[in-house]
Amino acid sequence: MVVTRFPPSPTGHLHLGGARTALFNYLFAKKNGGRFILRFEDTDRERSKEEYVTSIISALEWLGLHWDEGPYFQSKRFELYQEYARRLYEEGKAYYCECSKDFLEERKKILQGHGLKPRYEGFCREKNLPPGPGRALRIKVSVDSEIVFEDLLRGKIVFPPDEVDDFIILRSDGTPTYHFAVVVDDITMGVTHVIRGDDHISNTPKQLIIYEALGVEPPKFAHIPMVLGPDGARLSKRHGARSILEYKEEGYLPQAVINYLARLGWGYGDQEYFTMEELIEKFDLSRVNLSPARFDPDKFLAINAYWLRAFSAEDIYPHLLPFISHYNLSKYPKEKQIEMVNSVRVRVKTLKELAEMIDFYFFDEVSFDESAKTKALRPELLPYLKAYMSEIEGLDFEDEKHLEAHFREFAERHSLKVKDLAQAIRVALTGKLISPPLFEVMRILGKVEVKRRLEKALQSI
Ligand code: GLU
Repeated sequence: MVVTRFPPSPTGHLHLGGARTALFNYLFAKKNGGRFILRFEDTDRERSKEEYVTSIISALEWLGLHWDEGPYFQSKRFELYQEYARRLYEEGKAYYCECSKDFLEERKKILQGHGLKPRYEGFCREKNLPPGPGRALRIKVSVDSEIVFEDLLRGKIVFPPDEVDDFIILRSDGTPTYHFAVVVDDITMGVTHVIRGDDHISNTPKQLIIYEALGVEPPKFAHIPMVLGPDGARLSKRHGARSILEYKEEGYLPQAVINYLARLGWGYGDQEYFTMEELIEKFDLSRVNLSPARFDPDKFLAINAYWLRAFSAEDIYPHLLPFISHYNLSKYPKEKQIEMVNSVRVRVKTLKELAEMIDFYFFDEVSFDESAKTKALRPELLPYLKAYMSEIEGLDFEDEKHLEAHFREFAERHSLKVKDLAQAIRVALTGKLISPPLFEVMRILGKVEVKRRLEKALQSI
């Protein structure tokens, strides 16, 4: 059975790059009928924050990347790491080291002074030291040939035999080092495929050595390319290294984020839009692009606009709720709110814009855009607006065609330009020059409210 994992360090929010790694692991597991695990690599107690655990979990949930197991926390698994470390020590594959920090620092300088790569020179290797205060546990590394592994995306990756020294697996305070915790976790969680950023390629040799010492077959590795900013430089805060939850707040649909993340460095012919189901069906590591992906904010926005058009208003409504929850929603039954959504979702790019376009429906008092008011609600229109108001009394407001036919006839009868009259009524009802279709607005507001708003507007001219 395929088992993948997403192991964020809770030292920051989930951003696009991390979310894409999570998505690829999720898709690969689902595609193969496997399991997807969430694990927090929080061994760095200084930098790990509960706040980030919470925000990473919310972001994954919002994206719909549901894990089958976990979340695990490395900080709660220290005993397990110690047990595995003890095993290596008892088998003579690891040894205690009493070299002091200062001494090691000095040796490092000396080696560097000779133009050599700093490495632990094995001072305590043959000392057979028992555990004791101030002693760290090092793994005995005896590599006499190159370290090789087969990356699922890149093929053979080769490291020289001296790539890895006798590195520490358990610090003198008993805490595991990063590589050791990762390997013990991946073994005990049954991880079969490690899909991660290519910044982790250089970590792989050390991890392979731990697998070998523990006598366990390593998982398969796939190192995916980085996500770069539009300018080809590392993703910065300005363009995309923002928290996924910020996109939520800006009014992106989770489906759009998933779709865009999938397209960042992965493709399926010319297909641009994918549902999660399609991604699960079509995802395949062999289609991951080996050159770094570039984040393109315009394309991201266009994909969001696409999903706002492609989904039904009913599907969009729950995602819109947080953006309109402060409106006086009890003014309209849900069906009417859905109608509002339906007519404007094709004209906006985000849920936030959508919410702004329908805000006027919920106002107790229309808030006028001053320039719209000056432009559209002109004093010379006053008598006509008054006449119009009294005539609509007898109209059927449920029938937009009827409203429109009367409106056109009225304009013609008074020799008014349809556009002038429409703009005046539009601004009176919505406060703005741009709104959903006028007769739909009238129908949804209803006769009583339309009359009330017209009256108010007339008073203000
Ligand atoms: N915790 C690591 C990170 O946040 C991931 C390590 C791994 O995938 O092996 O980058």
